[in-house]
Amino acid sequence: MLTSPRTAIAEPATPAWPAYRPFEVVVQRILSLSPHLVRVTFSGDDLGVFGTTGLDQRIKLVLPLADGSLCDVGQDDPAEILAGTWYARWRALPEAARNPFRTYTVRAIRPERRELDVDMVRHDPVPGVPDGPAATWLRRASVGDRLIVIGPDARTADPTVGCDWRPGAARHVLLVGDETAAPAICSIIESLDPTITAQAFVEVPSSADIQNVVARGASRIAWLARDAGCETATGFEAVAPHGELLQRAVRAWLPRHMAQLETAVRANPDALEDVNVDLELLWDSPVDPATGDFYAWIAGEAATVKALRRHLVSDLGVARSTIAFMGYWRRGRSEAQ
Ligand SMILES: Cc1cc2nc3c(=O)[nH]c(=O)nc-3n(C[C@H](O)[C@H](O)[C@H](O)COP(=O)(O)OP(=O)(O)OC[C@H]3O[C@@H](n4cnc5c(N)ncnc54)[C@H](O)[C@@H]3O)c2cc1C
Repeated sequence: MLTSPRTAIAEPATPAWPAYRPFEVVVQRILSLSPHLVRVTFSGDDLGVFGTTGLDQRIKLVLPLADGSLCDVGQDDPAEILAGTWYARWRALPEAARNPFRTYTVRAIRPERRELDVDMVRHDPVPGVPDGPAATWLRRASVGDRLIVIGPDARTADPTVGCDWRPGAARHVLLVGDETAAPAICSIIESLDPTITAQAFVEVPSSADIQNVVARGASRIAWLARDAGCETATGFEAVAPHGELLQRAVRAWLPRHMAQLETAVRANPDALEDVNVDLELLWDSPVDPATGDFYAWIAGEAATVKALRRHLVSDLGVARSTIAFMGYWRRGRSEAQ
């Protein structure tokens, strides 16, 4: 009997989507959440395939130039998007034509509605320090503004890329951050399994900036408002210095909860290299998930993060492998691109 040879039918190769890619978006809504927090909702056709990991997943906002223009980083070319060339294309542009970009956090993504929420801090002007491009844009932002978001593609092999939250199987977690980390902390707290006990400390400029976020199970969020003031070495200050309340709260909380940290404490503290936060980025975030029962996530102004890192690791002996330390911004310095 004659049998016809089997013809191999070529399966279309599954495209390897890059972890991050440009999305063309427009501002759909601007909602003032509080005096210093603004929720910007972006919409865009491609947001239907935006990654949905949430948590502390970071994104970049590519901001328009003063005339409203956006550079071409291949955002409307599927082949360029697939090839993952946006950054190389951005770098190849003459400096004056390169749109600035800044790092933010996914606060919420609704792919079915093709909407993305980003909570942006509207910080008070610092005397003598010009606003950066994101603060300048936010002050003038209006519905219909066009931007490019560099964000996760849901079809990529590892959709968690860009998240530093890696608690492993830890049942006790500590979250610490200032207003720039509030979107990530709120998003993490909202998604926590109720069997996990989390303590979050979030420092915000004023009591009016406290957000209504529900922590489940035994988890707690303590909001620390700088406008409550604090006693300092030189007397009472009506507005607490940035980071002061966070440091005090964490330093007071730790000795009362050392039992939770038991699996994380080392007899010989891990060595710490000194990071000059005025010259380099403080980013000390374990690549592997935590293996013990305790995990901490600390982000915000770099000098505060540095001080807490020293206290936890050098003074208390908490293993570096159990804590993510992230200097989200540095007073007086623009974000490096
Ligand atoms: C992973 C990650 C996630 C982040 N997520 C968010 C987020 O969801 N929401 C959010 O609002 N921010 C977030 N940030 C912080 C944000 O990227 C910085 O605040 C950024 O510097 C703002 O850019 P800019 O153009 O306004 O200022 P830059 O050009 O970077 O800096 C200009 C000046 O403004 C000062 N400055 C910058 N930010 C602040 C601030 N918050 N308060 C006071 N002075 C400031 C700088 O010290 C500098 O002197 C995140 C940062 C990282 C690394």
